[in-house]
Amino acid sequence: MKYLDEFRDPKLAKYLIEKINKIASKKWAIMELCGGQTHTIIQYGIDQLLSENIEMIHGPGCPVCVTPLEVIDRAIEIAKRKNVIFTSFGDMLRVPGSNEDLLKAKSLGADVRIVYSPLEAVKIAKANPQKEVVFFAVGFETTAPANAMAIKHASDLGVTNFSEIVSQVLVPPAMEAILNSPLNRVNGFLAAGHVCTVMGYWEYEPIAEKYSVPIVPTGFEPVDMLEGIYLAVKQLEEGIAFVENQYSRSIKREGNEAAQNILKEVFQIEDKKWRGIGEIPQSGLGINKKYENYDAALKFDVTSIKTEESKLCISGEILQGNKKPFECPAFGKECSPVNPLGATMVSNEGACAAYYKYNRYKYLVNQ
Ligand code: SF4
Repeated sequence: MKYLDEFRDPKLAKYLIEKINKIASKKWAIMELCGGQTHTIIQYGIDQLLSENIEMIHGPGCPVCVTPLEVIDRAIEIAKRKNVIFTSFGDMLRVPGSNEDLLKAKSLGADVRIVYSPLEAVKIAKANPQKEVVFFAVGFETTAPANAMAIKHASDLGVTNFSEIVSQVLVPPAMEAILNSPLNRVNGFLAAGHVCTVMGYWEYEPIAEKYSVPIVPTGFEPVDMLEGIYLAVKQLEEGIAFVENQYSRSIKREGNEAAQNILKEVFQIEDKKWRGIGEIPQSGLGINKKYENYDAALKFDVTSIKTEESKLCISGEILQGNKKPFECPAFGKECSPVNPLGATMVSNEGACAAYYKYNRYKYLVNQ
């Protein structure tokens, strides 16, 4: 299939692996920012084919994983109210809150529905004027424009029984938080291709310059990943650092201006708490004053929720790249996709789920 097979070409992949391993003369740690990229690396064993000088660190780019527990608890609390139709993408339904998940709430009678677009939730609101319809708007810059569009669309239609629980986060402040951490080991980044398709990569240029760190916006297929790693390692070996676009078939420097404009229209930049990492200044999007009637956090009074993370879970350290999933004592024992203790196991994009799915548990235990 065009645009797929050539990016999974084994000959090209082998050629790139040889090129990377040939130039890697020192130890370098490269962080892939997106959970989808983590899955490609683990699924195809890319990390195992690279020279021992290259370590791939899995970053915080899994939106479900970084959504704070109290936001999930708040969503479940709202979903259980009698007059509410709660809508969400399917991946949020099994993310555990402190006591239950949305699927359990649904099994106990809550009207929880999976939608494939936030605009579908607006349609449900229009068809059910006697109900309050809430959409769970979680994600990075990739999903934010559609969530903003749904609010604008509801406003244009005069639909007032629609609102969103917003937990939208931004990549550049998280990169700076990682680079500023005293524990930081990251020498170069593979930025997420889809985020850059929306936002462009101009935002990353000051970061590359300030921290002397190569940043390569990269796609998601194995050949994309290998080319991204090659470009990052080449810069590191040459002692230079700039933003180099691997995913040029999708990204332009300025990004998608229409998508950025709808973000500016509906959202405002705010301090945001990231699960496992803590609060990062100016790292998220919230609904602005003009559209505050569509903010479920204001519409529903559920601010007093107290949460408690599993004491066994070290997903915070995994999300910051300080530990690998198999270093968690609960990995594959108390914690598995059937009984996830933390979001990095329950989410399809989570690093723990990737290591479990592709048997990195068995592989490493057998070493
Ligand atoms: S294996 Fe489970 S408990 Fe351990 S860090 Fe991952 S999600 Fe948390």
